[in-house]
Amino acid sequence: MCGALRASDAGSNVVLMGWVNRRRDLGNLIFIDLRDRTGITQIVITADAGAELHKKTESLRSEFVIAVIGRVKLRDANTINPNIPTGEIEVVADELRLLNDCKPLPFSPSDNDIANEEVRLKYRYLDLRRNEMQYNIELRHRVALAIREYLNAQGFFEIETPFMTRSTPEGARDYLVPSRVHPGEFYALPQSPQQFKQILMISGFDKYFQIARCFRDEDLRADRQPEFTQIDLEMSYARPEMVYAVVEGFLTAAWKTIGVDIVTPFPRMTYDEAIRLYGIDKPDMRLPAMSDVRAAFAPENLATLNIDPDLPIVAIVTPEVGELSRKERDDLKLLFGERRDAKVFEDIKRLEKSFPDAVSKIREIAKPNADDLLVLVAGSKRTEVGNAAKSRKEAQAVSAAAGQFRLALGQKFAAKHGAFDRRDFRFLWVTDFPMFEWDETEGRWNAAHHPFTSPHEEDMGILESDPGAARSLAYDVVLNGTELGSGSIRIHRQDIQSIVFKALGMSPEEQQARFGYFLEALQYGTPPHGGIALGLDRIVMILAGATSLREVIPFPKTAKAIDLMMDAPTPVSDRQLKELGIVVVPKRDL
Ligand code: ASP
Repeated sequence: MCGALRASDAGSNVVLMGWVNRRRDLGNLIFIDLRDRTGITQIVITADAGAELHKKTESLRSEFVIAVIGRVKLRDANTINPNIPTGEIEVVADELRLLNDCKPLPFSPSDNDIANEEVRLKYRYLDLRRNEMQYNIELRHRVALAIREYLNAQGFFEIETPFMTRSTPEGARDYLVPSRVHPGEFYALPQSPQQFKQILMISGFDKYFQIARCFRDEDLRADRQPEFTQIDLEMSYARPEMVYAVVEGFLTAAWKTIGVDIVTPFPRMTYDEAIRLYGIDKPDMRLPAMSDVRAAFAPENLATLNIDPDLPIVAIVTPEVGELSRKERDDLKLLFGERRDAKVFEDIKRLEKSFPDAVSKIREIAKPNADDLLVLVAGSKRTEVGNAAKSRKEAQAVSAAAGQFRLALGQKFAAKHGAFDRRDFRFLWVTDFPMFEWDETEGRWNAAHHPFTSPHEEDMGILESDPGAARSLAYDVVLNGTELGSGSIRIHRQDIQSIVFKALGMSPEEQQARFGYFLEALQYGTPPHGGIALGLDRIVMILAGATSLREVIPFPKTAKAIDLMMDAPTPVSDRQLKELGIVVVPKRDL
């Protein structure tokens, strides 16, 4: 093990195998940095090693695979390398064997920064040899292990669920697998094990988890992968607090792998509060919350400023920005952009000249420090005021505009406030999500989480009369502005599940066709249950301090869903297509 030798091993005989990381030829002395998964050891071929050994060593190049038999020796004081764990020793070679050579490389695994990601992905096997990738993949293993150990100790069973299954309504497009035995029929790869984990509760496995692969055919953004891994769990008789405690427990174990103790329990905030205070359902709490300063203005002020008095007026404080020039202020306006629903007041001093009382009250509410930037976002005056549901949406739109601006300001002035550089992990539970979301294009309600989510007990009565106001027992765990996972308490009664399907516009026939088996299963003594799923890839990415999921997934796909190493997807043979009864339409005809 190249990285394991220490000063205390001096004098012992060793056999080491690994890659030639680097070779330095000083004539009668040759040094080889020999590398394996555990690290690097310096091998020395001394003058008295003999001509034959010298000759062999001269032919070695980067990434040749060799075996060395030799003796561990303390280095001379002036050649100690304090930067590597094996820096106090070297191995004096008696014998060396070439196990395999290596042709000229597209890039060297000993390089740190390789700019061209396509080349890295094409030669992923070489890329994975790099130090950084070895660390990331080991970290991934240790995180998954820590989570498994924690859940096992809490009495959870890891249970596998099928990859070849039926479409699950998680909101994305399915990857389909054609059936040869049943021509014209398809399996779907699971978007998540949602229905299986609920079935497992009906089957009596009251604490289930799985580090599960999920597949979603979505238009890929930079931080998405068509297949990804979730820490998926489900518990019978669960209340949200029980799920929170389990998740906080395994996240504590995961963060310990990088030596960080996180603080539990995590703060909690309802969805409505999150929108009001942060303008988003995944607040980044490293920056101050927003505040509604409507009360600071007299009604006539609002009329003069052409601000809608019934919509929020949001104050945003960005710390430590300091004085801004006129031009920098104008840039803030550009950053906010032209919007119909909301407008920005980026020059508070100018506002203060006309409305000194209001601005003094705003300062009392928002409490900026002298160096902080204070700006306001308000709703534009509406031409007509609709019903309560419409007003609720308009108020949320103002908060959302302010929330986006708060984040944009946070990014823009990141170097000044420094809040994103600190190793500061601000976890949070966002609770009581809305039950439904209005789908403008389809003109119907969709499940905000998924259709198995239980409505909030208090809102059962308004499911059909005011779906937009109905809350659910769904929750998200959020870290520094990213959603790490979502879950919910589920519906465990068939009658309520039917009502929810109906509210989603599903006819009884469609319910039967898509979920008949599930509606039936719910009638055979289903215990109350709930669960959650968290993205493992994202968690490891954060722990590794990486900026892309591709850095922590051994064999990722590109943003165009291509595996550059295997070169997938590819066309298949006519014979395979024929067996499956599939005729491929040329792309131009699609
Ligand atoms: N199946 C859900 C998801 O993948 C998680 C859950 O509700 O447990 O987002």
